[in-house]
Amino acid sequence: ATEISPKDIDQLARTSFPLCMRHMLEKLRENHHLKHGGRMQFGLFLKGAGLKLEDALTFWRSEFSQKVGSERFDKEYAYSIRHNYGKEGKRTDYTSYSCQKIISATPGVGDHHGCPYRHFGEENLRAALNNMGVGGNALEGILDKVKNRHYQLACTMTFEATHGVSCDTGINHPNQYFSESQKVLQ
Ligand code: SF4
Repeated sequence: ATEISPKDIDQLARTSFPLCMRHMLEKLRENHHLKHGGRMQFGLFLKGAGLKLEDALTFWRSEFSQKVGSERFDKEYAYSIRHNYGKEGKRTDYTSYSCQKIISATPGVGDHHGCPYRHFGEENLRAALNNMGVGGNALEGILDKVKNRHYQLACTMTFEATHGVSCDTGINHPNQYFSESQKVLQ
């Protein structure tokens, strides 16, 4: 399995994270905080992408300590990160969420988890895709899929537009998006 390190996360996000995870990283960097649903969805994704427990603690602490202080981070948040890695509670080694699970989430106000194709309004989605360098016909095609509620197809088309290859299997998991991307880029 591959390993990723905290210092590589921003670069990897630009090249290889699906939009849902790019969005959460952006919000985490901006607010130095993510609510529970976001910490679960993004934290388990990073774990699946190869971020080891100690590095995960470093990564989350570096952001949260700017908001709540490192003492409060260690007291209130570190437990749930260790928990995700099966080091607390029932010691279940949790796996990351599939697209299906993410798409069926119901993010509330102030939440940043979920699937942008499903949960963003059209204007925000357009802006986010533009930000990934997707425009023109490709963008309109993606928005068309979204209108027909084919969110994973929309994500697959985004992958194809940003990587310049076709993705015959289709995207069904954010970690699959990541590993397919790494394969193309390596
Ligand atoms: Fe993330 Fe899956 Fe939605 Fe793509 S389709 S943005 S990988 S949840």
